[in-house]
Amino acid sequence: MGYIHFFGTTGNKDIIFKNIRSAGGLYININDTHVVFDPGINTFYKYIHTYGDKETIDGIIVSHVHIDHANDLNIFIELMTNGGREKRGSVIAPKQAIDNQILQPYLENFPEKIENIEPNTTYMIKNLEITASIPHDHGVECYGFTMKTSKHRIGLVTDTRYFPELLNSYKDCDILIMNVAYYINNKEKAKHLDILAVEEFIKTIQPTKVIITHFNKNILSENPSEIAKDLTKKYGIEVIAAEDDMKLYL
Ligand SMILES: [Zn+2]
Repeated sequence: MGYIHFFGTTGNKDIIFKNIRSAGGLYININDTHVVFDPGINTFYKYIHTYGDKETIDGIIVSHVHIDHANDLNIFIELMTNGGREKRGSVIAPKQAIDNQILQPYLENFPEKIENIEPNTTYMIKNLEITASIPHDHGVECYGFTMKTSKHRIGLVTDTRYFPELLNSYKDCDILIMNVAYYINNKEKAKHLDILAVEEFIKTIQPTKVIITHFNKNILSENPSEIAKDLTKKYGIEVIAAEDDMKLYL
């Protein structure tokens, strides 16, 4: 049926600099469709190391332009299009990625399609249906997504401050992959979710499986796998703390 490969599980600079965990996105292999999601620092190297240059990429999605989500976007466009020799594949990215030339202008004609993300809008990448959320609150233009497969609706809850309206965008999901930087977030101007927000998602949406990832120092010091175990016990659903290079089979 497919799988999601977690190349990295942090976005925090200190953790990246000390090489404790890798930044880096996801490789989604579902419905015979291959998508690179949020290609941050190191994603390209990890991808090539694992899959080489023979596997075809059908699309690249960038949730927002921060370096831990978009650093390797351009080299993946080169790879997807065989260095511009084959016009193919889709790029789905915030308008800001084009406006700020995060996506290098010389690459704009390489993919078959470049689509700016619009809220609550559904896109097709080959056989994979993917719907953007309402705008997240993260200081830059940012969206999460849900993906539909024959058996599941999978939510990719990317970087954001928590606010209740978020829940609506993910309400049909049975699997949630959530970027959770904090254990308990006590910063007033937080730009990331914490475990209290995860509990709101679990209580409201009632998924069967939740994967937490994108950890900063605050949550790593509390041991994410212990937190996941506690949540599993508390809510009777499967909660998993992602590890670098983990594959989630669907
Ligand atoms: Zn971010």
